[in-house]
Amino acid sequence: MSEKKPFITLEQAKRIKAEYPTPFHIYDEAGIRRTARALNQAFAWNKGFREYFAVKATPNPAILQILREEGCGVDCSSETELMLSKACGFSGEEIMYSSNNTPGHEYARAHAQGAIINLDDYTLIETMEEAIGVPSVISCRYNPGGEFSIGNRIMDQPKDAKYGMTRAQLTQAYRELMQKGAKDFGLHAFLASNTLTNAYYPTLARILFETAVDLHRETGAHIAFINLSGGVGVPYRPEDTENDIAAIGEGVRIAYEEVLVPAGMGDVRIFTELGRFMLAPNGAVVTEAIHEKHTYKEYIGVDACACNLMRPAMYGAYHHITILGKEHAEADHLYDIVGSLCENNDKFAIDRKLPQIDRGDILYIHDTGAHGFSMGYNYNGKLRSAEILLQEDGSVRLIRRAETPADYFATFDFMNLQLD
Ligand SMILES: *Cc1c(COP(=O)(O)O)cnc(C)c1O
Repeated sequence: MSEKKPFITLEQAKRIKAEYPTPFHIYDEAGIRRTARALNQAFAWNKGFREYFAVKATPNPAILQILREEGCGVDCSSETELMLSKACGFSGEEIMYSSNNTPGHEYARAHAQGAIINLDDYTLIETMEEAIGVPSVISCRYNPGGEFSIGNRIMDQPKDAKYGMTRAQLTQAYRELMQKGAKDFGLHAFLASNTLTNAYYPTLARILFETAVDLHRETGAHIAFINLSGGVGVPYRPEDTENDIAAIGEGVRIAYEEVLVPAGMGDVRIFTELGRFMLAPNGAVVTEAIHEKHTYKEYIGVDACACNLMRPAMYGAYHHITILGKEHAEADHLYDIVGSLCENNDKFAIDRKLPQIDRGDILYIHDTGAHGFSMGYNYNGKLRSAEILLQEDGSVRLIRRAETPADYFATFDFMNLQLD
């Protein structure tokens, strides 16, 4: 069980709403710092540990700066993410470039910023070489194929994933890169998403550690770091059990002691690229109930829509909802909570038991701090919302203004449209 408790009260929400109209995304600085510190603590046993926050989860400079203050680096996957990271002061090996299907000019920018390049495929060696040559530090992404299981539970199907190299390609890539001057190697894999088990990282780590020992023996390559990537999940549902990051760190430490240390590889640095775990619970969507509709079902229409939070529409993802001020009221109504898109999947909740909702009530949609705002879009001409930071002293700060129609029409700026 996980307690789904909003990090703002109804009174706070009303005060914020008076200045910044709903809907908006809000983030909890104290929670972000707590999460980052717990992660760093869990891996403090590893000299050189670093979390490279997955920028795509929450690409906002204020958020990246908080994480930077907590000692994190950034994991980028596009040129604009590289530009944002540079603007936030990240440079050199504080940046990981974990892209795929990568055009050469992206490698050129990553390299110019000193980022560590994490190659998704064997054929990308040539693309990279043409763009920048072969850097002395280089990482390769592994896909072991088959099914990825923990115990007898199937977690995911790496054989169907577009990412990473086969085992044979890894050896080939390491040999070729060494020949061309690479000195320090990294090994990376991302085998399951949003995992709710303390065994995910330790299981993945053991696979990567054993692979690293073999690769070192086969090729003589110096393996400097192992990147466990993202995939540590969060309890979106109240009945979910929260991951224990201290236990996860300890599980990885045991695998490290058992596999890497006896092989004389006790200097390997551990990296992570978490997005969801760092930010999801530390963000929420705040939206007002603006209509009710009684037809074949009971609907509550809110002023946010799937353009603000795509996960329910795209994945059928569950996001818990609290009606602020009615935290302790009985959930004796059955509602669909909907946005205003001309798309029937524009529903934040389907057949959800909630307390009675009245027009003007403020809904708090939980766990939207990662892959929330950033997956937003403009369908139906909807505009993206503001992002707001709840600072440690309890005050709020606008960290992205809401889009205006001018933003929406900006890409027609060469056409001289007469808009009003
Ligand atoms: C998306 C992504 C992450 C972050 O994943 P989470 O599920 O948010 O932890 C990390 N690394 C890579 C390469 C990714 O594509």
